[in-house]
Amino acid sequence: MSSYWSRIVRDLVPYTPGEQPGLARLIKLNTNENPYPPAPGVVAAIHAELGAAGDSLRRYPDPEGGALKAAIAHYHRQFSVTREQVFLGNGSDEVLAHVFCALLKHDRPLLFPDITYGFYPVYCKLYDITFERVPLAEDFSLRIEDYLERDPARVGGVIFPNPNAPTGRALALDAIRALLRAHPRRVVVIDEAYVDFGAESALALVREHSNLLVTQTFSKSRSLAGLRVGFAIGQPELITGLERVKNSFNSYPLNRLTQAGAIAALADRAYFERTRADIMQSREELARQLDVLGFEVTPSAANFLFIRHPGYDATLLARHLRELHIIVRHFRQPRISDHLRVSVGTPEECAALVSALQYAISPTHRKEAAP
Ligand SMILES: *Cc1c(COP(=O)(O)O)cnc(C)c1O
Repeated sequence: MSSYWSRIVRDLVPYTPGEQPGLARLIKLNTNENPYPPAPGVVAAIHAELGAAGDSLRRYPDPEGGALKAAIAHYHRQFSVTREQVFLGNGSDEVLAHVFCALLKHDRPLLFPDITYGFYPVYCKLYDITFERVPLAEDFSLRIEDYLERDPARVGGVIFPNPNAPTGRALALDAIRALLRAHPRRVVVIDEAYVDFGAESALALVREHSNLLVTQTFSKSRSLAGLRVGFAIGQPELITGLERVKNSFNSYPLNRLTQAGAIAALADRAYFERTRADIMQSREELARQLDVLGFEVTPSAANFLFIRHPGYDATLLARHLRELHIIVRHFRQPRISDHLRVSVGTPEECAALVSALQYAISPTHRKEAAP
């Protein structure tokens, strides 16, 4: 606490990202990064953009990201997406920050699940947005009726990831359609950070629903967490609102190398399809093996599994894994403090995780288990 700090800084409760340790030998399954490298064309495109002496860096990048917007619109042409329906940000976290400010700050509470992406309440605090947490069902499924029953006059907006994080559970498109119809005057944001690993995209509904905004990222399914690219798709009315906030904050959120790399990633559809299929296959195999070890595994449509062992304390399991150089995510939070979220790695990393867990729950460790 410092007297130099503004009041808003004193009151902030910042988001805590999963750690990025310096140790090279670690098996890192704590932040849902993709275990495979980006498409080979990405690095080539970044080199080409840089130019021989990095000369291109003298100049500001395109503030609108026009070429990348066009590439995203073209990529999603099956949903008739146009350039004017695309908003870009420095990672989808930045997109979401602008969404909260531009579209979700109203004088009624924003609704989101009690177990969901931890950044949502942080943005609410930053922008002074009131919110209400709607409890998920016992099995972590989202009961859409809980949102449909709400008096629309008392709802400021709705946001949740699909598939949800950190549970991995996906919601069907019919439920989202019903939600859009129940609250036509409020913005509904579907955060599709993990949609490519097995959920249905709500992009199919953008054309019919002016209150829908879908956000996606290059961080997970395109192996580009380090490049920082996220985007939102919605009707131009919503996008124009977002551009107003963006242009009041930073005109150039995406640098030249990022824009070039992202375009190249979209161009290699075969690589994308292959890597995401491999990850989905590894996820199913991992789920089967963890089930054999006695873990309860929440059905996942994402690149991670949300697991719990009835006989073992999650804090302890996470500690044992770390001793074996594997890091996973543990949330010290009501309802889920007995769970671990484990990212799906390469087949080798998954095998290492299974052996480590098998060792951690072996009789030698049993005495340390929680009662
Ligand atoms: C990872 C993640 C994001 C943010 O991704 P960026 O790296 O900022 O693009 C957004 N929402 C959810 C639910 C995520 O898990």
